[in-house]
Amino acid sequence: MRILLVEDDDMLGEAVRDGLRQESYVVDWVRDGGAALAALSAVAFSALVLDLGLPRGDGLSVLRWLRQGGQTTPVVIVTARDRITDRITGLDAGADDYLIKPFDIDELSARLRAITRRVIGCAESMLTVGDVMLDLRQRLVTYRGEPAALTAREYAVVELLMRKAGCLATRAEIEEELYGFEDDIGSNAIEVHIHNLRRKLGPLFITNVKGRGYRVDNGR
Ligand code: CA
Repeated sequence: MRILLVEDDDMLGEAVRDGLRQESYVVDWVRDGGAALAALSAVAFSALVLDLGLPRGDGLSVLRWLRQGGQTTPVVIVTARDRITDRITGLDAGADDYLIKPFDIDELSARLRAITRRVIGCAESMLTVGDVMLDLRQRLVTYRGEPAALTAREYAVVELLMRKAGCLATRAEIEEELYGFEDDIGSNAIEVHIHNLRRKLGPLFITNVKGRGYRVDNGR
């Protein structure tokens, strides 16, 4: 499971990062609101540990941005503010849980397990093709059991191909899947994504159907 930790306090951030890594989480640590948005745009995280008082955009703005964008990634707020209004504001803005500093890493880890379990739900949210597994609910791709660091577009390509496993996904279909992201799609953008995905998920994962599109196959 890949966690985004957003915390501007160096000592606390380091303690939480190291503690969660010991619990086998993959942890990306950023220190301000802007970096949090950039990370959330690039990678599908399993959960977010979010400090409220941050430079360059506070935690509540990050949370509102996430929810307004339709992302359901579970969020635990960690805050020094223990006023009841802050907790209510955080939960109203879409946080799943909160912890008041100082807190125990074991406690945070338990909360993370609880909220990610709620999200995972039923078994059919998992797709498997060869060594690649896709968790649709968490928007997480693993290759040989390890989380693959995919960009949002790479994830979108993988999800489309795996939903259509055994069938061709045309270039037009893939472009349509990517349409809606902010940036323009360059003429060779799909080839670049496929190239990167082969690097990250193995050279044989995606088959090129010359001039028509791409396909992934079960049972190879
Ligand atoms: Ca802070």
